[in-house]
Amino acid sequence: MGARITRRDFLNGVAITAGAAMIPPEMWAAAAADLQAQDAPGYYPPAKTGLRGSHPGSFETMHKLRDGSFWEDAPKPVDTGEAYDLVIVGGGVSGLAAAHYFRKAAGDKARILILENHDDFGGHAKRNEFHAGGTNRLGFGGTYSIESPAPYSAVAKALIEELGIDVHSYSKYVDHEIYRSRGLYRSIFFDKETFGADRLVTDPSSYDLESGEARSPEPDLWKKFAAEAPLHDEAKRDYSRLHTENKDYLPGLTSDQKKQRLARMSYAAFLSDVVRVHPDVVRVLQARPHGLFGLGIDAVSAQDAWGLGYPGFVGMKLDATPGKGMNRDAIPSEEAEKYFFHFPDGNATIARLLVRKLIPTAIPGGSASDVVLAKADYSKLDQAGSPVHIRLNSTVVKVMHKGDPKSATEVEVSYFTEKKLKTVRAANCILACWHVVIPYIAAELPDAQQEALASAQKVPLVYSNVLVRNWTSFQKLGTSAVYAPGCYHSHVRLDLPVSIGGYACSKNPDEPIVIFMMKAACKPGRPAREQHKFGRIQLYMTPFETYERNIREQLARMLGGGGFDAARDILEITVNRWPHGYAYEYNSLFDPFWLEGGEQPCEVARRPFGRIAIANSDADAYAYTDCAIDQAYRAVQELTKK
Ligand SMILES: Cc1cc2nc3c(=O)[nH]c(=O)nc-3n(C[C@H](O)[C@H](O)[C@H](O)COP(=O)(O)OP(=O)(O)OC[C@H]3O[C@@H](n4cnc5c(N)ncnc54)[C@H](O)[C@@H]3O)c2cc1C
Repeated sequence: MGARITRRDFLNGVAITAGAAMIPPEMWAAAAADLQAQDAPGYYPPAKTGLRGSHPGSFETMHKLRDGSFWEDAPKPVDTGEAYDLVIVGGGVSGLAAAHYFRKAAGDKARILILENHDDFGGHAKRNEFHAGGTNRLGFGGTYSIESPAPYSAVAKALIEELGIDVHSYSKYVDHEIYRSRGLYRSIFFDKETFGADRLVTDPSSYDLESGEARSPEPDLWKKFAAEAPLHDEAKRDYSRLHTENKDYLPGLTSDQKKQRLARMSYAAFLSDVVRVHPDVVRVLQARPHGLFGLGIDAVSAQDAWGLGYPGFVGMKLDATPGKGMNRDAIPSEEAEKYFFHFPDGNATIARLLVRKLIPTAIPGGSASDVVLAKADYSKLDQAGSPVHIRLNSTVVKVMHKGDPKSATEVEVSYFTEKKLKTVRAANCILACWHVVIPYIAAELPDAQQEALASAQKVPLVYSNVLVRNWTSFQKLGTSAVYAPGCYHSHVRLDLPVSIGGYACSKNPDEPIVIFMMKAACKPGRPAREQHKFGRIQLYMTPFETYERNIREQLARMLGGGGFDAARDILEITVNRWPHGYAYEYNSLFDPFWLEGGEQPCEVARRPFGRIAIANSDADAYAYTDCAIDQAYRAVQELTKK
């Protein structure tokens, strides 16, 4: 287990959000020096391993700005003399889509600059490549797939089609049978710290949220579970009862009255106080919603749990209509469920297709499938002569109208890059960055809007991708996806087998594969936003070695029985750390306006101001790609339809 830790990056996330003042100056300098110019030979971020996501060098400037120390020692601004029709802050899907829509409205000659603080474009839609030992594997560093709880809008669908993605053809690219035909199903890993013993047990429940993998068709699964799970006997009985009992736990109330009660209690409270299960059952289910909300069942309402198909509601006689205050993720839609497409690098393909549209020379090819293996040429992203420029490693620190915002014809945008403070001018500006950032860079905005922007606390998450030599241990253990409620990463699974555009997924257990591991950084028991704040600090403070140590140890413990040897089998690790992950979605437990109606903070936050419009998925408090697209479209309309 303990051999070869290949990457040790002393910078990796140490001591961040606790305050910039705590970070020694040499670390700032090292972080900045780590950033290569994007036109340097060999500049190719997707192939970087180690700590990615919000990587060292991407966030330090913004944190200094937040802590008030940036302007104290900021260099003198340098006027680049550059003027654009539109400057976009943030190179995620929303920023890239905004550039696309603006060109549609203003013509292909419109001059557009996209400024992005990371070393790669795409925002959360990031591509991970693995080449160790001559392999060629792709992984998603963030956004997993085209999917949304509600149907894609006409606008978002039209863009997906314009990019050449035929969502309905998806099933021809995925090999649904690879794991099932080998008898691999989903399982639960009980860890000894939480449950008293390390044990991998086939998951007997019929619902499935995160893994995408099937339940074993074996008969007597519940009996097997009762024999193997390291749970108290009463907990085993309760766990089975919860899944099979047809009981109304709130008798005497109407369906609406029940929903109102369920919307105001957590699912954990429902299980403990209403269904009255053994505390071990709550422990087993605690991490189930991590992948959707970055929170456990202590912070997800029982009404949402019902909508999500969690156990305990079969006998409750709730009518099918969504209850007031339900989270949008919890409202089922058949139409939306069918609209699914997963590229091997997730929605990084959408970002790459948008970049190809904006700067055709940067990514060769002409279809949504040939882009999968196409290598981006980063030196083409910011070239003189091109109407569209994507400038990476550039943190915007100030956006201000030149003159009175009501009548100004220009906005000045200042950004920090390579230890220099530079300015450009723009006729229009779209802030497609995280909303919590905006009050620090756009001080002109009204106080109420700043407050609303600041409330959009992002959800911290980690997506770790681990390239392994083979998956024979999964084969021996009969599992392809493991839910591990007490572990560092609560969801672990083999890559979804998709072959497209010349890319071939791993088909044989002897071949290398990427194992996907998901961690939610939460602090159960506290209000959601507080949990996210704690989690964010935790992620920034955790050095890469800790992530790596936990990955190795967890895989060794879970898969050791199948012959997995972490030192021998792990080839490469990429930890995609997202302290600012999903957009915050409103929650009936903590956001009264969501239950009672009234203006939502995101509606206040996204108001246009002078020549500035505001996009990003935060603008509709909805953590999905279609939202990032819809909000880009709206922001462009606001600027161009004046
Ligand atoms: C781990 C993860 C998994 C997800 N999975 C899915 C999924 O499967 N399907 C789905 O539909 N959605 C998914 N989402 C949500 C989806 O990724 C987002 O809704 C969407 O990609 C957001 O795009 P965006 O452009 O609005 O924001 P972002 O992608 O966050 O882009 C905003 C960019 O602005 C940059 N920025 C911030 N401050 C500054 C500054 N001062 N200067 C310059 N740049 C700045 C940020 O660094 C970032 O790159 C996922 C999100 C995460 C975090």
